[in-house]
Amino acid sequence: MKGGGAYISIGSSTSSINSMGSGSGSGSGSKMTLGKSVKMYLTIFIATTCIYMVLYQYHMSREPFAPSEVGKPPLYIITPTYRRPEQLAELTRLGYTLKHVANLLWLVIEDANKTNPLVAHTLDRIGVPYEYMVAPMPEKYKQTKKAKPRGVSNRNRGLEYLRQHATEGVLYFADDDNTYDISIFEQMRYISKVGMWPVGLVTKTGVSSPIIRNGKLDGYYDGWIGGRKYPVDMAGFAVNIKFLRQRPHAQMPFKPGYEEDGFLRSLAPLDNDEIDLLADECRDILTWHTQTKKNPPAQALNKTRYSNTNLVHIDKLLVRP
Ligand code: UDP
Ligand code: MN
Repeated sequence: MKGGGAYISIGSSTSSINSMGSGSGSGSGSKMTLGKSVKMYLTIFIATTCIYMVLYQYHMSREPFAPSEVGKPPLYIITPTYRRPEQLAELTRLGYTLKHVANLLWLVIEDANKTNPLVAHTLDRIGVPYEYMVAPMPEKYKQTKKAKPRGVSNRNRGLEYLRQHATEGVLYFADDDNTYDISIFEQMRYISKVGMWPVGLVTKTGVSSPIIRNGKLDGYYDGWIGGRKYPVDMAGFAVNIKFLRQRPHAQMPFKPGYEEDGFLRSLAPLDNDEIDLLADECRDILTWHTQTKKNPPAQALNKTRYSNTNLVHIDKLLVRP
């Protein structure tokens, strides 16, 4: 639109110069030459302006977000991850979802003793601003035959990072294997303390959600209540950073099944009417607790048969436990 308008005004100003020239023209050769050179310089000037405008528009179209988007409250997305064959696929899928969201820092925290260059490479390629850290599950939980507190050290490491580096905005725990509609990210930016919303496909119950009656939070619907004060899914709440910082001891317990409840309880005092109800006052589903089928690790590549082929390179890109 802007380009079109500029083109018209350039055309009309050129023609007015033309008519001025002929109107005041006395027919003298030097004046004609002067007129011609003015015309030539103007043409060069206009052409250069046009080229710059086209280049500027191209540059703007390549910028991922408009300046107004970038000024929004920041989002800090804490994603626990761990070494397994599906890891890079999960991170790629989630990463390209997050790429649609402005002013976001992705805290990818691996349950490991050291970072994996393949993960770093994947994150680099996606191009979402990120910090990649490690936080191993304590050995005593790793050894247990019972349910493990999955992703807890990772999330607590993320909280520690936020206490050191973040002053405003909103924190959200986004597991690497879930599915997210990007509109939830725009809604969660403006949470004042804690926000909650429904999560689809957790159990055969089909959804885990706050229950809203007469416009107020009136309990929770979930396949398993288990004596929890907050029987919610990890994908179903987010927390304001300023509010988090006012609760310096808030963290997630190493208690399988009670991670969300323990963390939300540690944010006390928090009244039910201080909980923002997102996703159309909890009438919509914008996040899903999905699970990827676990696959056995890939077999070793026959390096003799496939030496000097691309497969030698590809083999180095596979994550094996
Ligand atoms: N996770 C982890 N270490 C583990 C198992 C899981 O860091 O040993 C991470 C995983 O990447 C995910 C989160 O913790 O982001 C929850 O794990 P999972 O999806 O296996 O749990 P589920 O959703 O089945 O309860
Ligand atoms: Mn999961």
